[in-house]
Amino acid sequence: MERSTIVRVHEGLHARPATRFVKLAKGFESDVELVKDGKAVSAKSSVKLMLLAVKENQEVTVRANGADAIEAIEALIGYLENPKAGLDDEAEPHSPANDAGQETAPAPVLQSVPGQANGLRGVAASEGVAIGPAFAHFPPDIAGQGRLLQADEIAGEIDRFRAAVAAVQARMDRALAQDSLSAGDRGIVAALRDIAADDSLTGEAEKAIKGGNDAVSAVITAAATIAADFSAVDDHYLNARADDVHAVGRQICLVLLGQDDVSLENIPEGAILIADDIGAWDLARAPLKRIGGVICGHGGATSHIAIIARSHGIPAVLGLGDQVNALRTAHDVALDGNTGHVIIDPDAATRAEYAGRVEAGAKERAGLTAFKTVTPKRADGKVIEVAANIGSLEEIEAAQEAGAMGVGLFRTELLFMRHMHLPSEDMQAETYAALAKAFAPHPVIVRTLDIGGDKPIAGIEFPDEENPFLGWRGIRMCLDRPDIFKRQLRALLRAAVHGNIKVMLPMVSDISEVTRTRALVGECAAELKAEGVAYATFDLGVMIETPAAVLIAPALAKEVAFFSIGTNDLTQYIMAADRLNPTVAKLNDVTNPAVMSAIELTAKAGVAAGIMVGMCGEAAGRPDLIPAFIEMGLTELSMSPASIQRAKKTITAMATGD
Ligand code: PEP
Ligand code: MG
Repeated sequence: MERSTIVRVHEGLHARPATRFVKLAKGFESDVELVKDGKAVSAKSSVKLMLLAVKENQEVTVRANGADAIEAIEALIGYLENPKAGLDDEAEPHSPANDAGQETAPAPVLQSVPGQANGLRGVAASEGVAIGPAFAHFPPDIAGQGRLLQADEIAGEIDRFRAAVAAVQARMDRALAQDSLSAGDRGIVAALRDIAADDSLTGEAEKAIKGGNDAVSAVITAAATIAADFSAVDDHYLNARADDVHAVGRQICLVLLGQDDVSLENIPEGAILIADDIGAWDLARAPLKRIGGVICGHGGATSHIAIIARSHGIPAVLGLGDQVNALRTAHDVALDGNTGHVIIDPDAATRAEYAGRVEAGAKERAGLTAFKTVTPKRADGKVIEVAANIGSLEEIEAAQEAGAMGVGLFRTELLFMRHMHLPSEDMQAETYAALAKAFAPHPVIVRTLDIGGDKPIAGIEFPDEENPFLGWRGIRMCLDRPDIFKRQLRALLRAAVHGNIKVMLPMVSDISEVTRTRALVGECAAELKAEGVAYATFDLGVMIETPAAVLIAPALAKEVAFFSIGTNDLTQYIMAADRLNPTVAKLNDVTNPAVMSAIELTAKAGVAAGIMVGMCGEAAGRPDLIPAFIEMGLTELSMSPASIQRAKKTITAMATGD
């Protein structure tokens, strides 16, 4: 028997809802299938279900055959018709592939380093310089025996294979049971365990063994087949599952071969870790204190590796692509995590230069720790807030360690990019509340979703655009998708009960964007009130990062509680020089008089209106520019945690005339 329906599950049967659907289906004895466009798959396999790529509002049929077929159809149709089913992201699994940033990283910037024949350039992902012995981590490819089994060997090989799968599942269960595993890492392991427990991979492998293949060859073939299916689906996030399948296949093969995965445990003190890709699970378990620097073919500034590196103060250059292979045989390597430069086997002069910079950096850091608890003030006694730019809860500790006076920019896009679907209101409210509590009584400025066509997000379809930086991004996209925007605003109103949440809008270029947002905030507050949910209002500010915002700053200042100048985008838009394009990097200079006068105009307008003017672009942390910004009237500077103590020192020296 069968019944058709339109899928209402929010964003369709992506990872988590697929797993839940399977769990529900497995509770029935009947054989159950889900049919879409004439293709039927078992409803008891999450891999097969994900591969069916069922999206919201598509028609599907549930088919069941067995004693409890009626009940099964009833329950499964009920699930498919529940729009909330896609929104609950408790223990949300996310793809290690996403964490590694292949899908989400900014495009790698590849070019040679001027004057260095052996120089490469990737994405500057974690600041600081390092030089040290190269530790290449390129786990070897696993190969099968390439021998056909005799008929009487097959049963034994299947037993060996099943035992290996059980061992891998048990290892993952043990990892999940550890309290020390962070929420993010738990999600990664849970996603892998789902695949290890799914009979798509195991069924495919057993079929190959029955055909006479040894277990290792069978797993390699099965993983390749399923990964290819995931790669072929027209969906970025399902594409990323292909790497999960390979990761699980690799673990099973290693058990079959009696080998351990190449471990990072033996990395020598101060070594530079070089890899094509490092699973977040591997990196989180590595002796991070011993690692001098990280260089990767994959990843970008917002990838999981970048976050781990930044929060542990490890310089990192990521996104080198295939050029990372040039480092496989390197003895020594120097890297600059501020510029993205990598130098292979540097000559004596470069070594001396980098060693000098490393030493100067260490000395400077030691001298700066005294500023951690300093509250910097202007000569007239006005406190200057030196806050942190962060993008995840994992970065709170590093910001607090540095002495951050709150958060001047919480980039919420990472919350959206790290998941296989849009984060729910509850999950967002919890995240914002955790931030508010961690930094109270200092303010926490949360930036509403700032995303554009250059970065994919599950659940938001972006049009192909000629110029994504001039396109449908930031506040423009949010106002066109009130379903997404209101969920974030409601979460922010709920977290605002802690008293120190402020909210700012990115990419503003017209006053109507502020007034329309205010109206939506009002709607959200009214809804929460009617639902009896606790909430509080928050200060609403705007980022000044378009020339239009600068030119209407006096009018904008009357509408908002504060300005925060986003020099990264403001510079690219004022100078018409793409911030990711190395060929115009010279023009992309915040010190250009055109940009500095835009900053000054903004400050003047804000000061005249009596609102706070702050800055959260990279320039806010530059000691050579801070005095000029303070003179213009900026009273808040937000930066990467690594720059905080130096900034406090600069401001203090200004006031005392040192
Ligand atoms: C900026 O543009 O200066 C800014 C802080 O925003 P982002 O770097 O996230 O675009
Ligand atoms: Mg910006």
